Amino acid sequence: YAAKTGHGGGPVFATGLDDHARTRLTMLEELRAGLDRGELVLHYQPKVTVDASARVTGVEALVRWQHPVRGLVYPDAFLYTAESADLMGRITTVVLDLACRQSRAWHDQGLPVSVAVNLSVSNLRDPGFPEQVGELLRRYDLPPAALELEVTESVLMTDADNALLLLGRLRDLGIRLAVDDYGTGYSSLSYLQVLPVDDLKLDRAFVSRCVVDPRSAAIVHSTVQLAHSLGMQIVAEGVEDDEVFDRLRGYGCDLAQGYGIARPQDAGSTTGWLQQREIAHRATV
Ligand code: C2E
Ligand code: MG
Ligand code: MG
Ligand code: MG
Repeated sequence: YAAKTGHGGGPVFATGLDDHARTRLTMLEELRAGLDRGELVLHYQPKVTVDASARVTGVEALVRWQHPVRGLVYPDAFLYTAESADLMGRITTVVLDLACRQSRAWHDQGLPVSVAVNLSVSNLRDPGFPEQVGELLRRYDLPPAALELEVTESVLMTDADNALLLLGRLRDLGIRLAVDDYGTGYSSLSYLQVLPVDDLKLDRAFVSRCVVDPRSAAIVHSTVQLAHSLGMQIVAEGVEDDEVFDRLRGYGCDLAQGYGIARPQDAGSTTGWLQQREIAHRATV
């Protein structure tokens, strides 16, 4: 172990560690402390139907670390390190708890939105995970449809056989499952064929380019058809403008998510956004 305690009492990192290792150790120490202090917060990004009503079908929970000094830290800056230090199990437990608590609050306010939570490799390796999720739904008295779990294609392929088993058990609980960032990993069509998922989330790399690049357009269009013929819904990620939204509509895409519809926002702002949507929707019917 590379750190030793200095005379001032605080930790001093041994010389010889390169900057990267030092940063990693500091971050892990701070992250553990941050978890103890409840510094993880969730932002929520809505998913809407790709039609004229753009009805909200749910929101995705995206974790942020409200660091006392650094401010809001985004997941790409700490999840990789957390995973390598075996902290993802703990982080997912916190995220799931916050997400279910918020879903409960929305249900109680007459906004029955489901919340999607992203999983990591270590969750799919934990045989106790489905039971933990079931227990959480009971604790918050939520129907299984209130929760959706997203797994990226690359996470799935890290341990494909095991993932298949675990997803099967989660689905038996009635929880919706989605493949995230579809099209960027290495899953085969034969794997997709047996994967027990409800939604395919097409990566924004294809979606954002579908109005400027015919090849991306062809990929989006044919992936919509593929998903439908496998009995899955397709969700387009990274929809940033109306032009893309209209194009997706032409392709028969089911749901969309992106900055052009709504950016991820904290729970308070999301509640406001959902209420306005509800009112707008009621006003038109
Ligand atoms: P993701 O699950 O694919 O989530 C979508 C990411 O794209 C989010 O970044 C979101 O803010 C961003 N995004 C949404 N719409 C647009 C758009 O129109 N344009 C662009 N350029 N970006 C858009 P974020 O929040 O930084 O999260 C990054 C990734 O971190 C997520 O990708 C997910 O893989 C992971 N992640 C986030 N929260 C959690 C968590 O609680 N647990 C785990 N295991 N992973 C998480
Ligand atoms: Mg996701
Ligand atoms: Mg994604
Ligand atoms: Mg992603």
